[in-house]
Amino acid sequence: MSDATDLVTRARAFVGKPAATPVAARDPVNLPAIRRWCDAMGDRNPVYQDAAAARAAGFDGIVAPPAMLDVWTMSPFRPGGRASTERMQVLELFDAAGFTGVVATNVEQDYDRYLHEGDRVHCTAIVEDVSEEKRTALGVGHFVTLRYEFTDDAGDAVGRMLFRVLKFRPPLAQAATAQAAAVPKSIPHPRPAVTHDNAFFWEGIKARRLLVQCCAACGRLRHPPGPMCPQCRSLEWRTVEASGRGTIHSFVVMHQPRLPALHYPLTILLVELAEGVRVVANLLEAGAQQLQIGRAVALDFVEVEPGYLLPAFRLA
Ligand SMILES: [Zn+2]
Repeated sequence: MSDATDLVTRARAFVGKPAATPVAARDPVNLPAIRRWCDAMGDRNPVYQDAAAARAAGFDGIVAPPAMLDVWTMSPFRPGGRASTERMQVLELFDAAGFTGVVATNVEQDYDRYLHEGDRVHCTAIVEDVSEEKRTALGVGHFVTLRYEFTDDAGDAVGRMLFRVLKFRPPLAQAATAQAAAVPKSIPHPRPAVTHDNAFFWEGIKARRLLVQCCAACGRLRHPPGPMCPQCRSLEWRTVEASGRGTIHSFVVMHQPRLPALHYPLTILLVELAEGVRVVANLLEAGAQQLQIGRAVALDFVEVEPGYLLPAFRLA
């Protein structure tokens, strides 16, 4: 049995079993946490924060946004690393085999009932699936799917979540492993995941046009692309071409982790376009000291590899 097959076999022995010790939420479902979540998400539905509005809508009192399902039992940030009860052996198996990178790739939730203030959520994570070795833009790795079962104090199901992560061998580690033979001449630049929803955007970029989705019913612009208008729920949309003018809404200068295809320090902007939507793109040719929130920027395009363009911005 090859090492790779052996690793998959050992990992698949966990399938169907708890991935970690079951946890009970530290705090019951509560309004302050709901409020902070709604602020962060921009969700202004009053049934989540106003008891009278919730009662008018047929609830007994305020309810938590369903998408907060996994918030209540999340483990706190621990600077020294995870507690032994939070560690997942199935993931540690991949760490030990050199697949030390981790990135979340899919989340699917479904809900059995609304959570009310005072509900205490319990969570058990179960290993659902482990993939064969896959070659991905991030490196060679395995997809590990975890199924989180959420219950209340009575043990009744309130919802569940499928959470898929990619455990990958970071490209630098891959290059080091492959050191003896020819080290890869060039590692390709990571590519976007082009889907039915965002294909128009990437087609536009190829033609050096930044296209923004526009609701055909109410005219609201939205980005990143999505199938439904968040304002009127219409599924009909068209596109408008952005002028390319904008201002820096926020930025980050990345130093680590270093992917071989990118150049560091890497300045990534969140640009507020003149049209009113925000886009994420790299900054070209400017030092971090020139950066300032509110500064005007102008759209440009970079040909990262022949035929592969990315939008980027320059200081205007
Ligand atoms: Zn609309």
